[in-house]
Amino acid sequence: MSIDKIVSLCKRRGFVFQSSEIYGGFGAIYDYGPLGITLKNNISQLWWRDMTQLHENIVGLDSGILMHPKIWEASGHVGAFNDPLVDCKECKSRYRADDLVEKDNKNTEWIKIQCPKCGTTGKLTEPRQFNLMFKTNIGPVEDDSNIAFLRPETAQGIYVNYLLTQNALRLKVPFGIAQIGKAFRNEIVARNFIFRTREFEQMEMQYFVKPGEDDKSLNEWKQKRISFYDQLGLNSSKLRFHEHGKNELAHYAKEAWDIEFEFPFGWSEIEGIHNRTDFDLVQHEKFSGKKMEVFDQQKNERFLPYIIETSAGLNRILLAVLSDAYWEDKDNDRLVMKFHPKIAPVTAVVCPLVKKDGLPEIGRKVMDLLKPHFITIYDQQGSIGKRYYRQDEAGTPFGITIDHQTGEDNSVTLRHRDNQQQDRVDIDQLVKAINDSMENY
Ligand code: ATP
Repeated sequence: MSIDKIVSLCKRRGFVFQSSEIYGGFGAIYDYGPLGITLKNNISQLWWRDMTQLHENIVGLDSGILMHPKIWEASGHVGAFNDPLVDCKECKSRYRADDLVEKDNKNTEWIKIQCPKCGTTGKLTEPRQFNLMFKTNIGPVEDDSNIAFLRPETAQGIYVNYLLTQNALRLKVPFGIAQIGKAFRNEIVARNFIFRTREFEQMEMQYFVKPGEDDKSLNEWKQKRISFYDQLGLNSSKLRFHEHGKNELAHYAKEAWDIEFEFPFGWSEIEGIHNRTDFDLVQHEKFSGKKMEVFDQQKNERFLPYIIETSAGLNRILLAVLSDAYWEDKDNDRLVMKFHPKIAPVTAVVCPLVKKDGLPEIGRKVMDLLKPHFITIYDQQGSIGKRYYRQDEAGTPFGITIDHQTGEDNSVTLRHRDNQQQDRVDIDQLVKAINDSMENY
């Protein structure tokens, strides 16, 4: 299945739009339509609940996108946040050097590598460094004294707030801080729809542990994080771990694993799990001149915790969910988005069979009954078959039809999206029937 089919469905049904479309689009940035934003929110809410509600020792934070520029010197981003780039002198295409090496059987002799676009050999430049952070200025004057950066990761906001958070809540190591927010990277080769964009959202949790307990903690988080994807209904055979080899490791990492998903364009990273040691805290001590240690009451001494980071990309997970859900049901000539009912952007559609005989009025009452519990919409346009197929494409798991029998015995039909089975259910039992069906999905 090609990614183009997903791109086109996303536009048609209001999941994802190209940014600034009327101006011809803008720089690998995307906007989320009504179905997309709800699906994205449903995913991030599950993550937030998983982290901050199900773990008593993990708390939330929302730090600024703009922060003191020294933070990015301390973190190493100002010096090292670079992707080596290669240009084709013939057709002017630009590539990430590591991608080309990967594609060309690990050949690093640039002179011998073919440009994937124009096919010319011998026209690629040597790799050059490029800083990925977006720069801006604070205040009215644009000069070097007031430079600020849009954050390229949410993690640093957690590190610089970690002692304030720990003190305010009297947290004891091990504890975690979770944050969901935008990050910005001036990616050179932005591609694959919302997989690699210049503005995106991260869901990061930084877990502070005693040195020596870091390896064990990393293993625990690997298992917890991969099982999180079950809740989203992702096919487990499309998920795997990839361990970073020594030459892949980021400058801050002692050990690093990616969780990869099999997208239509191949296996690619959706989340990184890293042992960042005390690298960041040591750096912030150096650059701020402030102590970043916590106090160990048992040993009566101060120490710098190690940090296990779980860093997931919300937009990439959304793309994984969209591609996994996409199903061309050829037997029934319909397109179905098989979202797990817990994250589907619309849970139920209420359809009076006809626009007369009091059926719309009953439909409105059923809406009032369902709205407090589920995201529910009302549809009385067109034939019932067309209405269902419209909702199959939007991934709505339940369809409720009010027909003439409803007036007689207070029952409706409850249609299940995937197998199109229809059950007769008493209106008073509808909320329970939908809840049961969601639980057993
Ligand atoms: P990649 O190698 O694909 O560029 P990365 O290793 O640089 O990713 P991290 O810095 O570990 O990524 O960021 C953590 C997560 O943030 C990634 O797993 C990914 O889901 C998400 N992410 C990073 N860059 C982007 C981007 N440009 N667009 C969308 N999501 C991104």
